[in-house]
Amino acid sequence: MTQPQTLQITLLGATGSIGSSTLDVVARHPDRYQIYALTANTNVDEMLSLCEQWQPRYAVMNDVDSAAELDRHLQAKNSQCEVLSGESGLLQVVNDEAVNCVVAAIVGAAGLVPTLAAAEAGKRVLLANKEALVMSGKLFIDTARASDAVLMPVDSEHNAIFQCMPDSLTRHHSSVKMTNQQDDAGIERILLTASGGPFRTWSTEQLHDVTPAQAVNHPNWDMGKKISVDSATLMNKGLELIEAYWLFDMDIANIDVVIHPQSVIHSMVTYSDGSVLAQLGNPDMRTPIAHALAWPQRIASGVEPLNIFDVAKLDFEQPDLSRFPCLRLCYEAIKRGGSATIVLNAANEIAVAAFLDGKIGFNDIAALIEQTLEKAEISEDVSSLEKILEADAMARAISNECILAMH
Ligand code: NAD
Ligand code: MG
Repeated sequence: MTQPQTLQITLLGATGSIGSSTLDVVARHPDRYQIYALTANTNVDEMLSLCEQWQPRYAVMNDVDSAAELDRHLQAKNSQCEVLSGESGLLQVVNDEAVNCVVAAIVGAAGLVPTLAAAEAGKRVLLANKEALVMSGKLFIDTARASDAVLMPVDSEHNAIFQCMPDSLTRHHSSVKMTNQQDDAGIERILLTASGGPFRTWSTEQLHDVTPAQAVNHPNWDMGKKISVDSATLMNKGLELIEAYWLFDMDIANIDVVIHPQSVIHSMVTYSDGSVLAQLGNPDMRTPIAHALAWPQRIASGVEPLNIFDVAKLDFEQPDLSRFPCLRLCYEAIKRGGSATIVLNAANEIAVAAFLDGKIGFNDIAALIEQTLEKAEISEDVSSLEKILEADAMARAISNECILAMH
């Protein structure tokens, strides 16, 4: 695969945790990468300073008022950067012909439309926004394949799995959905590792009193608030199970979740001859981002080399589905199929926001998702964006009603 001299990048979610790690890697390789467009939701101050530093052609604020404010500031500084807003602005900078790489790092369902558009436009898509794939599943993979998009997983586990897959599967297309070739490749199982989060050893009673501040304080990774809470409930691992199912076309029965508290092995693939391949490294998202940017080449990421002697020990445990019912709900939703995973994802987003707002407790997150899945009508037709967004909106309405009933 040949790469253009300089990759022109649209970075969706520039002000977030993945956004800033991406810019850190890009800054190390000005000859290879240029920032064409930056996007954010409402954080005008941060966007202003990023625009001054990166001088993108476009800056997009999802929020219209924030866009107007950013525009005023940039005009006062005689900036050449054009400010756009809302979904149309996001779609414009994704579809722009000058762009060949889109980093999908918006959090949650809000990222679905532009991320799917990037796949449809046949770009190199660096997928961090796992919720977009969880929601659109087959539609997303089919869209990426039809347009010949290069779909690169940024999520550290999926990036690790990708790296442990044979070249014969990843050479032509990064989305590794080639079932009959997988038989020859002898792939048997995926071992999806999880740190276990900050409450790995806590009892259900202790989990009852968890505060938002405790939940966002992850032991190994520095991440946005939503994914930090998801890591604490193990919902993140459940979403990743669904993500792996779609990306690698693996039967869910052949994907094992392995609790590995050190977060040094980022996932493994087992083969029919007894080999187990693992990808190791310090827990720093700049490694998978650099890999996904440069593949099939390798570039420096700024990540400290792993000192295996400091690590010394690698532990592995089974996940406990009774203390962490979110993971069980994910297994059930993927087996149920249809819109169940869309409902699950929407209910989780509502539940996490309510938990961070102090409206519900930590254990209520799983309870709310379960109630929403029981009440929602699960539809079999999830073949269009319209149907997916419909299921998402319906689930959010049910979850909000359930929260009111909890009080
Ligand atoms: P974050 O909260 O730090 O950043 C989110 C970004 O999305 C911000 O730039 C924000 O402005 C933008 N955004 C939020 N709502 C938006 C909306 N309605 N419209 C447009 N833009 C919006 O989140 P993060 O931790 O960087 O995570 C981003 C995505 O990457 C998530 O899907 C997460 O699951 C995934 N991911 C993150 C990590 C990590 O280490 N942070 C690791 C793996 C996967
Ligand atoms: Mg991950």
